[in-house]
Amino acid sequence: QAKAQGRNTYRFFTDAMSAEAQRHLSLERRLRHALEHERFVLHYQPQVDIASGRIVGCEALLRWNDPDEGLVPPGRFIPFAEESGLIVPIGEWALHSACLQARRWADAGLPPLQVSVNLSARQLWQAELPDRIAAILKATGLPPQALDLELTESMIMGHEAQAVERLGQLRSMGLRLAIDDFGTGYSSLSYLKNLPIEVLKIDQSFVRNIPQDRNDMEIAGGIIALARKLNLAVTAEGVETAAQLDFLAGQGCDSYQGYLFSRPLPAAEFEKLLSR
Ligand code: C2E
Ligand code: MG
Ligand code: MG
Ligand code: MG
Repeated sequence: QAKAQGRNTYRFFTDAMSAEAQRHLSLERRLRHALEHERFVLHYQPQVDIASGRIVGCEALLRWNDPDEGLVPPGRFIPFAEESGLIVPIGEWALHSACLQARRWADAGLPPLQVSVNLSARQLWQAELPDRIAAILKATGLPPQALDLELTESMIMGHEAQAVERLGQLRSMGLRLAIDDFGTGYSSLSYLKNLPIEVLKIDQSFVRNIPQDRNDMEIAGGIIALARKLNLAVTAEGVETAAQLDFLAGQGCDSYQGYLFSRPLPAAEFEKLLSR
């Protein structure tokens, strides 16, 4: 009887595994299909200079335009794309599209813009990354100075020495490097001074509860002060209210993104906002 029970447990286990494996396989197939059929789109969220109120850049944010499900946000497929390695070609598609779009806006005579693209860990550590980016810049004609790459602390943690080398390569190509979601990654601050980064982006979790949460205000203010001392530009993410913007401006924050100014927009709508 124990044996039969064991067998049942085993069967239950493999059925559960194969359901999970099947779900992954089908997601992988759908993502590959989406890649082949250009079913990804980028939305662009303005980055606003606080002193002038002008749009100085935009962050390109990936969406999956699935025929059945509609626009799927990145949180629902990027973790899987990371796991399966598909993030490398998907991320490369995003880089290429964002650079091409930025070049078209420049050609159309719109005000100069930085374009920010999120990089995943797999891409960062891909040996050919600098070559791939160089090829994309060459093909699109976007000057490297116009491209920002966003990385997170967790991608660097535990690989600080390699990061100094890799980020140095990217920096020497003329790109700007930003640390995204800053403050959420338990990193030692000492790595900051060794890395050739230009921008800190304050994570939206520290912005969300300003001005109700004193601790978040201290943290956001502290990040801004740190950035200024280290001569880095600082951008706040997730700014939704005038009170949040006032506080951040008072602390000396350089620029911001958030629903207060605009949600991420399809390229055509972003362009309308730009030409206003
Ligand atoms: P992130 O890079 O930190 O992007 C900021 C996220 O905050 C975006 O979510 C944006 O839509 C959202 N956001 C902007 N303003 C506000 C606001 O005022 N309030 C609130 N509540 N949210 C706001 P989204 O577009 O869903 O992207 C989520 C994450 O997916 C991104 O976080 C980034 O880590 C990742 N991601 C997006 N596109 C790419 C990509 O092309 N490659 C890679 N590797 N990751 C990407
Ligand atoms: Mg980002
Ligand atoms: Mg972020
Ligand atoms: Mg994030």
